[in-house]
Amino acid sequence: MSQSPQQPRSAAAKPELIDSFGRTVRDLRISVTDRCNFRCTYCMPEEGMQWLPRTDVLTYEEIVRVARICVERFGVDGIRLTGGEPTVRAHLPVLIEKLAALTVPADADSPRAGRPIDLALTTNGATLALVAHDLKRAGLARINVSLDTLDREKFQRMTKRDELDSVLEGIAVAQEVGFAPVKVNAVVQRGVNDDEILALATFGRDNNIEVRFIEFMPLDAQGGWLNDSVVGQDEIVSTIHHTYPLEQLPSRGAAPADRWRYLDGRGTVGVIPTVTKPFCGDCDRVRLTADGQFRTCLFATDEFDVRALLRGGDRDDAGSEGATDDAIEALLRRAVGEKWAGHNIGQVSFVRPRRSMSQIGG
Ligand code: SAM
Ligand code: SF4
Repeated sequence: MSQSPQQPRSAAAKPELIDSFGRTVRDLRISVTDRCNFRCTYCMPEEGMQWLPRTDVLTYEEIVRVARICVERFGVDGIRLTGGEPTVRAHLPVLIEKLAALTVPADADSPRAGRPIDLALTTNGATLALVAHDLKRAGLARINVSLDTLDREKFQRMTKRDELDSVLEGIAVAQEVGFAPVKVNAVVQRGVNDDEILALATFGRDNNIEVRFIEFMPLDAQGGWLNDSVVGQDEIVSTIHHTYPLEQLPSRGAAPADRWRYLDGRGTVGVIPTVTKPFCGDCDRVRLTADGQFRTCLFATDEFDVRALLRGGDRDDAGSEGATDDAIEALLRRAVGEKWAGHNIGQVSFVRPRRSMSQIGG
């Protein structure tokens, strides 16, 4: 979130996490697992993914500790859980309940100061119909469901699973239990599902859902990404506008999606233009991988080992719980201090990160 002009930063405000380009960290993406029950072709191969050993994956207590430090010490006011597929991790509502209890400090420079964090989840929706009630009861505020096609056979080709009906049911149940808004994420690939841009937009309009089209990024584990397979924001928007006239909404701030409203009043649609219109200059995000590595960018080539501190490090005086909060804070500050200006997708200087989308946490 960018700083609101109505809320000037007071001298007494909590110290924030600000990088060397002046961007303030507000949003933490936490991957709770690298495993998944789908095999989306733009994300991972059908076979052969190497999963993290379970002992490498952070416990819920460890995740909550890092989250608490980020909220209490830096005024982070939004957390999104992702993966892999977060709902395949056992007892996810237990984690949600603990995170939902985190409150943004009253003196934080945030519109949510003194209130609970904004807690969201990104899921493929396959089991959402079964778990939506429990997630809601645990305190989850918002859900994004990934859905790239409305065609059953294409869904099976794209995810290697015959689960379109379960996902559609999951979206409906999420709406019934009161998640508002439910958003749908759709990755668009040339020659794969670009013929469904309008159908997906129609689905959003008919179901009171904001569809957010995502440009295909070079983060698939197979390394098959090609610039030619990216369908850019301009093309996506003009395809929709031709049938359903659109008007762009004011600047997105730090949110990744540019947004438009349908001129006939039937809701909004978004595009995340990572490749054709990078938004790194406004980025307020950092990430914690399932194995406890702190990353300041999806495309970062460096990671900072928080798990090593959580499980060892310079123990506090009581000799318990690994390193002190101060030591963890120092590592996170160092990482953010080294955050780069942005990725260089499409340029010769671009270097693919060592890990892929599901291993980092999208
Ligand atoms: N499994 C969950 C899901 O699919 O929603 C959460 C994790 S997934 C990695 C998070 C988001 O990243 C999804 O919306 C997915 O479509 C998107 N994604 C995965 N690989 C991508 C790629 N190569 N380019 C763009 N988006 C991608
Ligand atoms: Fe799994 Fe999500 Fe990757 Fe699809 S995009 S394979 S659902 S992690």
